[in-house]
Amino acid sequence: MLDLSVVIPVYNEEENLAPLWAELRPVLEGLGLDFEVVFVDDGSQDRSAEIVRRLREGDTRVRLVSLKANAGETAATDAGFKAARGRMVVTMDADLQNDPADIPRLLARLDQWDAVCGWRANRAAGDSLVRRLSSRLGNGVRNWVSDETIEDSGCTFRAFRRECVRGLTLYRGFHRFIPTLLRLRGYRVVELPVGHRPRRFGRSKYGVMNRAFVTIVDVLVVRWMKSRRLGYEVTEDLGGEPRSE
Ligand code: UDP
Ligand code: MG
Repeated sequence: MLDLSVVIPVYNEEENLAPLWAELRPVLEGLGLDFEVVFVDDGSQDRSAEIVRRLREGDTRVRLVSLKANAGETAATDAGFKAARGRMVVTMDADLQNDPADIPRLLARLDQWDAVCGWRANRAAGDSLVRRLSSRLGNGVRNWVSDETIEDSGCTFRAFRRECVRGLTLYRGFHRFIPTLLRLRGYRVVELPVGHRPRRFGRSKYGVMNRAFVTIVDVLVVRWMKSRRLGYEVTEDLGGEPRSE
């Protein structure tokens, strides 16, 4: 089994992919682990897939998983989780906003935790005031309604033990709730400050509006899921021995 799969959802990120791979490769090689980088092309209309194919020609540790049509960041992440062969999985954006140099710190804490989620402690470096404020409001409402304490659920720079993302059932937009869904299933989730950089190429796929309204419904669903959790413990199972066939 591979040690590490890095899963990267890609939607129209053609200019970011070669520089990202150039930054990632030395960091991953420095870990001394067997790794693969799974670019999940989420129906890009630009040359993203072609560029990943070319990267793979130079290095077979690069993989390309292509979705038939644009299905959203959560779908691309889900496809990456299913394709991942590593015992550890890192997710990150394709747009160079996450700093690959943070990966060793994220992975290091997987010895004690099932999932390590980045939070962008210094967002001023990478995002406008409007985005920062809307994100702060979003996190505040999300935490309040779903009784959570996640600092930055919009940050998808995360490391996981693979078993915890394996049976995860995700819905559109739910990449933001992965830390909460994992806690719901009893996994230990910790947050760690990570760097954040401005987007140099391409455009953000989200605006203030398409985030805010949908997530109000989502957060109510998550609240409901938490309140209906089956929190039982089996204390006895008399007669449940394996049967010899
Ligand atoms: N993304 C995707 N499918 C989509 C929208 C976004 O795969 O429909 C990818 C995108 O290419 C990027 C990541 O998801 O790698 C996060 O998107 P973006 O950087 O636009 O979000 P932001 O950082 O602005 O929240
Ligand atoms: Mg981004």
